[in-house]
Amino acid sequence: MNQVCKVNGKRMEARLAELGEIGKTPENGVHRLALSAEDKQAQKLVAGWMKEAGMMVRQDHFGNLIGRKEGTDPQAPVVMLGSHIDSVPNGGRYDGTIGVIGGIEVVQTICEANITHTHPIEVVAFCDEEGPRFYSGLFGSTGMIGKMTQEKLHMPDDEGISRYDELRSMGLDPDNQQDSVRKPGEIKVYLEMHIEQGPYLQAMNAPVGIVTGIAGPAWLNIKLHGMAGHAGTVPMNMRRDPMSGAAEVILAIEKICGSDPSAPTVGTVGKIAAYPGGQNVIPGTVEFSVDIRDTDEGRRDAAISQIQAAVDEVCKRRGLTAEVKVNERAKPTLCSEQVMAAMERAAGALGLTPPKLVSGAGHDAMCLAEIADMGMIFVRCLDGISHNPKEYASQEDITAGTEVLLATTLEYVK
Ligand SMILES: [Zn+2]
Repeated sequence: MNQVCKVNGKRMEARLAELGEIGKTPENGVHRLALSAEDKQAQKLVAGWMKEAGMMVRQDHFGNLIGRKEGTDPQAPVVMLGSHIDSVPNGGRYDGTIGVIGGIEVVQTICEANITHTHPIEVVAFCDEEGPRFYSGLFGSTGMIGKMTQEKLHMPDDEGISRYDELRSMGLDPDNQQDSVRKPGEIKVYLEMHIEQGPYLQAMNAPVGIVTGIAGPAWLNIKLHGMAGHAGTVPMNMRRDPMSGAAEVILAIEKICGSDPSAPTVGTVGKIAAYPGGQNVIPGTVEFSVDIRDTDEGRRDAAISQIQAAVDEVCKRRGLTAEVKVNERAKPTLCSEQVMAAMERAAGALGLTPPKLVSGAGHDAMCLAEIADMGMIFVRCLDGISHNPKEYASQEDITAGTEVLLATTLEYVK
C-alpha cells in the first residue's frame, strides 16, 4: 500500500515557499510572532490548505488551528499530527512549518489515494509555540492539555496586549477553555515532524532521525555579592569582586556540563548583569542565568548540585556570598517506545535507517505526551542552524521525513 501512496514533495516545497513570504525579512528569514497580523494571515493560508486536503477546519479557544478528517469510526480516538507556524524574531522558514505542512500532506495523500481508515486524523498548528512576544511558549499545547494559567493567558506583550485580548478579537472565547481541553484517551497518538535544530543528522549523513526524548530544562538564577568599590583605588589583593567570581563559576559550568562527551547534558549562561554597573566601578553584585538540559533528570540534577558546590567553593575562596535559585525544573519527556518502533518500521520499509537522537529544544510534543503516546521525527537541517534566516532543510529530506510520518500515521489510523 505504501508503494502506491507517495507524498508530493513539490507541493510541500511550494507551500513552504508561500508561507515563507508571510512576515519575510530582508535576510530571507521570517518574522511571524504569535498572534501578530502576519501569524493570523499565515493561519488563513494554512486553513485553506487544510480544506484543500479534505479536512474540516476550526480554531479552538486557545487559537490552535485544527483540521480534521473523519475515519469510519467518529468515536475512535484521534491520530494527531502537528507543530507550529509562529516564529521567533527574524527566524527561519522551516522551524515548525514542516510539521504542519507535512501533516497536511499526509492527509491529502491519504485522501487522494482513497485509503479508508478507522481513526479520525487531526492536523494542528499550535498557537504560540515559540513564546518571545508574551514571554512564555507552548501556549496552545499547554491549553489543549488543560494546564493553562490565568497568568499566562493575561501576560501582556511590550505594547500591553495579551493573548487573551488577541484571541477575543479573533472571535474566540478564552474564558470558555474547557471546550478546548482534550482528555486522556481522546488522542491515540501525537506525531510531530520538526527540523533537528542541531548538527547530528548532518554529521551522520542521515536525512531523518527518530527522537527518543526531549530534554527538560532547569533554569537557575545566581547572584554573587561582593564589595563595590573604586576601580582605581582598591588594590587587586583587597578586592571582593563578584564579576571575577562569576567568571570562575561560568567556566566551572562549562566544565561540569561537558564532563561526559557521550551525555547530552548542556549548560548555558545566556544573561548576565553587574550592579551598580559602571566602567570605573568594581561591581557589588553580579547576577546571571543558567539553563541546563538533559534527557536524564538525575544526571541534570547532579549537574545542578555540582554547580552549587562550585559556587560555594568560589565564594569561600573569594570572600563572596551567593544566592542560588532554581526557578524551573521541567521534567524530561520520553517518546513512546511503541511509536519509536512504528517509526523504525516505517522508515525501514522506505529503505532508511534513521539514527535515534534526543531533542535539546522544547516542542509542543512535550505537552501532548502528558495525555497521549508521543513520537517525533527529526529532519536534517543545514549545519544545525535554526532560529536564524539561514535555517535550511532540503526538499528531499523533508519529503523523506513526511514519508516516514505518512507510513507511521497509516499504521495508527487503520
Ligand atoms: Zn519549533
